[in-house]
Amino acid sequence: RPLVDRYTAEFPGSKARFEQAKGIFPCGVTHDTRMMDPFPVYVTHAAGAHKWDVDGHKLTDYFVGHGSLLLGHSPPDVVAAVQTQMAKGTHHGSCHDLEIAWGRLVQQLVPSAERVRFTGSGTEATLMALRLSRLFTGRPKFLKFLGHFHGWHDTVTVGSDPPYDGAAAPGVPEGVAALCVAVPPNDLNRVEAALKADDGIGAVILEPTGGHWGAVPIRGDFLKGLRDICTRLGRVLIFDEVITGFRVAPGGAQGFYGVTPDLTSMAKILAGGLPGGCLAGRADILAYIEPRPGKPKMKHPGTYNANPLSAAAGVAMLTRVATGEPGRLANAAAVRLRNGLNELFESHGWPMVAYGDFSMVRVVFDYHGPRPATDAGVNDGLIPYDGDLEKLDGPKNAKQSNALRQAMLLNGVDWWGTAAMTSSAHTEDVTDHTLAAFEAAVEDLRA
Ligand code: PLP
Repeated sequence: RPLVDRYTAEFPGSKARFEQAKGIFPCGVTHDTRMMDPFPVYVTHAAGAHKWDVDGHKLTDYFVGHGSLLLGHSPPDVVAAVQTQMAKGTHHGSCHDLEIAWGRLVQQLVPSAERVRFTGSGTEATLMALRLSRLFTGRPKFLKFLGHFHGWHDTVTVGSDPPYDGAAAPGVPEGVAALCVAVPPNDLNRVEAALKADDGIGAVILEPTGGHWGAVPIRGDFLKGLRDICTRLGRVLIFDEVITGFRVAPGGAQGFYGVTPDLTSMAKILAGGLPGGCLAGRADILAYIEPRPGKPKMKHPGTYNANPLSAAAGVAMLTRVATGEPGRLANAAAVRLRNGLNELFESHGWPMVAYGDFSMVRVVFDYHGPRPATDAGVNDGLIPYDGDLEKLDGPKNAKQSNALRQAMLLNGVDWWGTAAMTSSAHTEDVTDHTLAAFEAAVEDLRA
């Protein structure tokens, strides 16, 4: 019986809900990555590493709140902090103690955070980083890397999605997209040449472990090289740590690699699973938010900036992050998965690979290159990059990735197509179950 028929039969409640949703939302969903063919799964509740759907399935979750749930779902201390705050009011439209505690934790954990400004999301944080860089340098443009994702505001959409050709995204005027110079990842000479050739480029922004959190991984040497180039040429270096912040290490990728950017955008884990983001960085750059004689001031309102509920969740989350334990456990879970998957692929002779670093796992189909060792550690589970971005993270994988997702759901796991992130709740029992499910799912696919 075809996989899609089994999927449709097993998830009737989700199918019925999707029929309703199609009449309300474009594509029936509220976030592009929640699209799934022929319909997505509808979830009722979640705890730890699991979530439960409307048809009563218990699913192991590798979406982890789009990366925001380093402690897994509904950790009791975060839930209690939000409930306590909820009883005191959801929004006072005022300054409050929790925002001070939250901002101070960011300052203590993140090396670049001389000053902090909360935003409503990661997209708003990268928008702010680029606008402040313009004010600080007087240069209107910025440089980014093909395949790196920084949210969905106009200029950063250039080159963030397949076919990674650096063209303006649909709906973004050419003139606006021209503010962004996009170059291939991992090539310091290209960066230096681009900055020297164009005086109008004031900033360089990147995901510090590689585009789409490590599809094409980046190492510390590249970060050090960028730091050196930006310092020498007087450009602002921005780490977009929306994913890596508090995940890679309590101090983010900058803490782990010992490379301090000028500005850092953060969100996700920052707000403990509630909405929220921030920009942190050099005091003299964030000073452009302050009214000062003779200096322009960047306007920055935002109804939900540092809202008390997100602040309560964020303080509880970062207090746990600061111990280093959640990141260590999430990393260990990802190591077990990457190595276990590669063992599986090797033993069956399947042309697939699992790779990644820290608590991030990626899977590529039709892979014939060298695999990482099956006893690889947190930072040596990578594969060589041959310049084909699409092979790693693009339409070449999309069909198989949807089929794998169906097969995994039928085996009790919500696996993010070609990619997954772990949390500290992904214990050994959980990852063992996932490896067995993966084997069954690929066997289903190949049947
Ligand atoms: N930057 C990176 C690296 C991200 O992964 C994301 C979201 O996934 C964003 C920015 C945008 O953040 P948000 O979805 O909070 O707007």
